[in-house]
Amino acid sequence: MNNFNPQRICFMFAMHAEAAPLIEKYSLEEVADFFAPLPPKLFKGSHNGKEIFAVLNGQQNGLDLVGCEPATLTTQLVISKINPDLIVNAGTCGAFKANGSEIGDVYLSKAPINFHDRRVGDSGGWYEMGVGFYPCIDATEIAKDLGFKTGHCTTGSSLDMADEDLALIKKNGGELKDMEAAAIAWVASLYNTPLMCVKSVTDLCDGGRATEEEFHENLSLASNNVKDACIKIMDYFLK
Ligand code: SAH
Repeated sequence: MNNFNPQRICFMFAMHAEAAPLIEKYSLEEVADFFAPLPPKLFKGSHNGKEIFAVLNGQQNGLDLVGCEPATLTTQLVISKINPDLIVNAGTCGAFKANGSEIGDVYLSKAPINFHDRRVGDSGGWYEMGVGFYPCIDATEIAKDLGFKTGHCTTGSSLDMADEDLALIKKNGGELKDMEAAAIAWVASLYNTPLMCVKSVTDLCDGGRATEEEFHENLSLASNNVKDACIKIMDYFLK
C-alpha cells in the first residue's frame, strides 16, 4: 500500500444526496451526457494535481437508481470510459449494534465483499459464486492513520432484511449492509481495478427502529461524514 499512488480517483455513489457534499467541496463540474443515453452521471475536477471523478448511478422517474443492477452498469462504464487508478465506492450503509456500530460511524472496507441474497446452491462452487468473496484493497493502514473503523461490506437488493439474508450475513461475517458494494466489487475484480469502499452508518439493522425512517433521519449526517472521509482519503494519497 505504501507506494500505491493513484492519480485518477473515481468516487462512485448511488444517491445524489450522498454525493452532493463532495461535489460541492471540490467544485466538481458535471460533464453533460457523458454516458448518454444511459442514466449514470459524471462530475469531474482536480485537486493538487490529482484527477477526481464523482460518478452517480443517475435517476429514473425522479428517483436515484440504487441497487446492484445500476451499480454494475455504472462500474462497467466507469472502467471502460474513465479507467481510474482507484474506485472508491462511497455511500451509506446499515450496520449492527451488536458489533459496536453507531449511527454516523465511518468504515473502510475489508476483503472479502459479499452478497447476502444470492442463494443458488450449496455445492459445486455455486455457494461461492453466489456470495462472491470479492477483493478490495487492504485499507488497514489508511483506516488506522485516518481514525476509521474497518468492516466487511455485504450487499443485497433490498433495504429491509429477510431472515435468510441475516443468516447469510452472519455466516459470512457481514458488517456493513448496503445495496451496491458487491456489484461494484465484482466488476472491479474482473478488470483488476483497485477498489475501496467508504461507508457511513445511517441505520442499525438490530436497533429496533424502522429502517427506512432511520435511514432518512440520518442520511444527511452520514453523507456529510462520507464527504469528510473522502477528503481525508484524497489527502492521504497526496502525502
Ligand atoms: N427508500 C429509500 C431508498 C434508499 S436505499 C429512500 O427513500 O431514499 C438505501 C441506500 O443506502 C442504498 O444505496 C444502500 O446502499 C444504502 N443503505 C443504507 N442503509 C442500508 C441498509 N440498512 N440496507 C441496505 N442498504 C442500505
